[in-house]
Amino acid sequence: MSSENTIKKFNEHVMQSYGRYPLVMEQGSGRRCKDEDGREYIDFGSGIGTNSLGYCDEKWADAVCAQVRTLQHNSNYYYTAVQAEFAERLCAVSGYSKVFFGNSGAEANECAIKVARKYSFDKYGKGRHNIITLVNSFHGRTIATLSATGQDVFHNYFFPFVEGFINVEANNIADLKAKLDDTVCAVMIEYVQGEGGVNKLDKDFVDAIYELCAPKDILVIADEIQTGVGRTGKFLAGEHYGKKADITTLAKGIAGGLPMGACLVNEKLEGVLTAGTHGSTFGGNPVACAGGLAVLDRIESEGFLDSVSAKAEHFRERLEKCSEVAEVSGLGLMIGITLKSKKAADVAKAALGKGLLVLTAKEKVRLLPPLTIEVSEIDAGLDLLFEILEE
Ligand SMILES: *Cc1c(COP(=O)(O)O)cnc(C)c1O
Repeated sequence: MSSENTIKKFNEHVMQSYGRYPLVMEQGSGRRCKDEDGREYIDFGSGIGTNSLGYCDEKWADAVCAQVRTLQHNSNYYYTAVQAEFAERLCAVSGYSKVFFGNSGAEANECAIKVARKYSFDKYGKGRHNIITLVNSFHGRTIATLSATGQDVFHNYFFPFVEGFINVEANNIADLKAKLDDTVCAVMIEYVQGEGGVNKLDKDFVDAIYELCAPKDILVIADEIQTGVGRTGKFLAGEHYGKKADITTLAKGIAGGLPMGACLVNEKLEGVLTAGTHGSTFGGNPVACAGGLAVLDRIESEGFLDSVSAKAEHFRERLEKCSEVAEVSGLGLMIGITLKSKKAADVAKAALGKGLLVLTAKEKVRLLPPLTIEVSEIDAGLDLLFEILEE
């Protein structure tokens, strides 16, 4: 089928909730993919940080296919070895006590919100349900996670939103202090705000959150849906800050491109969710868990995370030499590029014409390449990007 026909059929039948580029992706291999018209692209977006091992990685595909042919799904009324194995490995590598599996980032955050509120309710009773989230944060598209998201543009149309979220300005310790009263059960942060524009939180601010919350038994929730699973060169971005949240949520790259979300909790919270208080039909699906195990195998392999950091450094060095680049933000292979005169949206569009996929976040060009990208591929992609930026 030609891409024109696909786009026509698609738009006739799929709700128009996305602004899409006129490109029909057909096939991928490694860090490159091809559209229906046969054009090839170097991928600096990895499906928004999701295809962490690139396209159709062989070991990952073998593990996923083997699981599909063995047991593709079972209800959570029963146990599976593959979910047990993935949970054990994920807890070990992240340093958490227990995990709940859902199928997306928003679901992982829903679980985190429920755990925080129930922990507080069980221990302190009603009235301590508020959760502080940051201005410019992004936590998902369900009604509760939209309510948590600290951006007014998302608080439209779908009224009424969920009560109990209070916004604090990122990096403003005075604002945090003023709002951390005895109605608050948790503070929820992204160490690097992704959708909000690839902005890293200041170390002082993160230190203050942990210092102020601990004595009041206020939980810290780290939304590491975009920053986690090796994206920043550590398994969790919190490691760069020397911090471990009470709850960490993961999704995006966790299963190499299969739908999976995880809510990890520490010892203090491991018993909060009791039988019947939370659930998900597909949560911890065996195929997704098999994909997740293949991702962990790679990320935990000798030198892998160091190579992510080295490649990130290479990206930054080259980007900072480009005359059109004003600033490079982010952490590891989560890269935000502020441009001097060009518009990020125009650059992303022009990149398609050159055979390069990039993302945007607010006014920045955003790069979330597969963690397996090679230096030669980084260079080839940056050459294309610089043709656009320097023309
Ligand atoms: C993508 C993202 C989400 C939402 O994840 P979905 O899988 O789209 O529900 C939540 N928080 C952060 C930080 C994200 O980057």
